[in-house]
Amino acid sequence: MIKSVDTFDFSQITLPDSLAKQSLLSCEFVKDKQNLILYGHPGTGKTHLATALGVEACKKDFRVIYFKTSKLVNLLAQARQNNVVAKFWKKLANTDLLILDELGYIPFERVGTQLLFEAISDCYEKRSVIITTNLPFDEWNTVFYDQKLTTAILDRIVHHGRLILHDGPSYRLHNSKMQ
Ligand code: ADP
Ligand code: MG
Repeated sequence: MIKSVDTFDFSQITLPDSLAKQSLLSCEFVKDKQNLILYGHPGTGKTHLATALGVEACKKDFRVIYFKTSKLVNLLAQARQNNVVAKFWKKLANTDLLILDELGYIPFERVGTQLLFEAISDCYEKRSVIITTNLPFDEWNTVFYDQKLTTAILDRIVHHGRLILHDGPSYRLHNSKMQ
């Protein structure tokens, strides 16, 4: 779903002191090849904000790709089987911003984890990554299984990264007609 920053209520999230809203909206983080982690419970606007920032980046002529993380992992595992992974690396090399949505909902199998690691490593200092997740950092090993791999992934993302906290109530529940 295409989402817009105009319809996003920023009072529901906490930006780090070092990141002004205006700088976020003007996609300076993409220009500077920095990463964002959008962290919070379900329904707190992570996908909305990640998508809307992707749209803003497109408006500035940055090249953006979006994946649900589990879909990318499956796609990469399949591509490896069919010997066409190189095609994906080429596509990735041509982007400025990779959006990985919903890391943490489903654990990945091993081959997929390795390939996801390679994808994130490939972005390091070359292009920006936005990751949305409901998992605190100390539980990322439940998705990646391997503690060393988890540390290596976090190390790369966090080095030039900022954490945006989606710490408001679930927008879905709050606005539900079932209330
Ligand atoms: P998450 O990805 O964190 O589970 P979503 O981004 O899918 O949550 O948000 C769920 C719904 O609530 C979407 O329709 C989204 O547009 C809306 N929503 C959530 N947070 C906000 C917000 N801060 N401002 C405006 N809409 C929001
Ligand atoms: Mg989501």
